[in-house]
Amino acid sequence: MKIVVIGAGIGGLQSARVLAEGGHDVVVYEKSSKGNISYDWRDDVEYNVFDELNIPIPEDSHRVQNVSFLAPYSDKPLFVYQDEDKMEWGVYRHTFGDMLATRAEEKGAKVVYDTVVEKLIIDGDAVKGVVINGEEILCDLVIDCSGMDSKFRASLPECMGITKRANDDEAFNVYRAHFNKREGEKEPEKYRRLVYLKPEGALGISWVVCEPDGTENVLIGRIGSLPQEEIDSSLKMLREAHPIIGDDVVYGGRRARIPIRYPLLKMVAKGYVAIGDSAFMTIPLIGSGIACSLRAGLFLGEEINKANSVSIETLWKYQVRYYQNVAKEHFLIDCVKRKILVADNYDIKYVIESGFITEDDIKMLTGGEGGKMSAKAIFTKLRLALKKLPFIMSVLGALLKGVGAMNKAKNIPTEYDEKKIARWVAKLERVFE
Ligand SMILES: Cc1cc2nc3c(=O)[nH]c(=O)nc-3n(C[C@H](O)[C@H](O)[C@H](O)COP(=O)(O)OP(=O)(O)OC[C@H]3O[C@@H](n4cnc5c(N)ncnc54)[C@H](O)[C@@H]3O)c2cc1C
Repeated sequence: MKIVVIGAGIGGLQSARVLAEGGHDVVVYEKSSKGNISYDWRDDVEYNVFDELNIPIPEDSHRVQNVSFLAPYSDKPLFVYQDEDKMEWGVYRHTFGDMLATRAEEKGAKVVYDTVVEKLIIDGDAVKGVVINGEEILCDLVIDCSGMDSKFRASLPECMGITKRANDDEAFNVYRAHFNKREGEKEPEKYRRLVYLKPEGALGISWVVCEPDGTENVLIGRIGSLPQEEIDSSLKMLREAHPIIGDDVVYGGRRARIPIRYPLLKMVAKGYVAIGDSAFMTIPLIGSGIACSLRAGLFLGEEINKANSVSIETLWKYQVRYYQNVAKEHFLIDCVKRKILVADNYDIKYVIESGFITEDDIKMLTGGEGGKMSAKAIFTKLRLALKKLPFIMSVLGALLKGVGAMNKAKNIPTEYDEKKIARWVAKLERVFE
């Protein structure tokens, strides 16, 4: 089978390796040059995904640090304890991209850099190939790994039933830069990785991370738009709170976008499959797009190899496997996320500052130190909850709605049946209307 992958993203490269191993003719087209795949910074990757998928941890990776959260208008961070051996890996994206490309090439896939795919060739209800430099390249399957704003996904005909774009409130617009450390300023001892939730009431987050490589990693992310004035004023605020952030950008220093919504309800069509950010595979507001895309790449490759076919029935099995193993929880998280985003900032502040959630609770939830919750602790929580009952009840309502959405997502039709799939899609769409 001839397979074209658009974009040397994580899921595309992972599937390219598996498919090439299965004997398929795979070509990945990437618009960046060799050595420049992906972002010029480190991102956090789930600690166990490398073992699970038998991928080596890139040599220049390091364990990330405990994270703390600061509620809006608060100065009391909530420390999230994590056992050392369960800490995520901070992975340098260029190195990781190169490694995945090399691994795909070792199995026979071809990675072609500095090449922009212009458009898809679409014939009726099927994708037949791509256009590059005006030349038509026909193939049996196009894997769209071109990112969250994929113009290819947006160009698909309505009859395929694939969502074209994320709504404004389903995209996180970020500015990310690693600054030098200002000389003479001391590093914080405990809160070395501080995330500001809805800083100054803004719809989004900011973070400041004291990196082991001697830089101050700053992110400013907002839902909807992120005008330059917002970046400037947020940077000013962060520098006042963290005088250690210097003036020079050492690396990064660019804008990017992250999907923060449930995954595509239909990821496949005849001759087409979306993977990674172009299928909205990140966990809403939490991230983890790398681990999700790696798993998706494996599922896609394995299903095609097993069936030795790229029929819509085979591609649907990839989606089913992704939903059942990875995506279903994202629906629950999305429901809770939507509620928290519209919550009153002072309610969020209360929950974190009053002791309703404590560092001990987090330790318990994340499997670290700390035992069962005592009767006294439960009583204290109930007493604190009474003061913000409407808010607590609304979050519980969102949780219940989320559990319902998760169960619907889990009940994805296991065989490709257009009528059944349309009914399933409609049910899930109603949850987020
Ligand atoms: C600031 C930031 C922080 C993040 N932090 C984390 C984190 O800590 N952990 C985590 O797991 N995830 C994180 N993510 C998300 C993560 O980057 C993605 O989920 C993951 O990389 C999967 O994206 P992708 O490979 O599908 O798409 P992308 O990374 O967007 O890659 C798409 C590729 O397609 C190429 N391309 C696009 N159009 C064309 C075209 N027409 N022709 C040829 N090539 C094309 C692009 O050049 C690019 O290489 C973060 C994202 C951002 C922006």
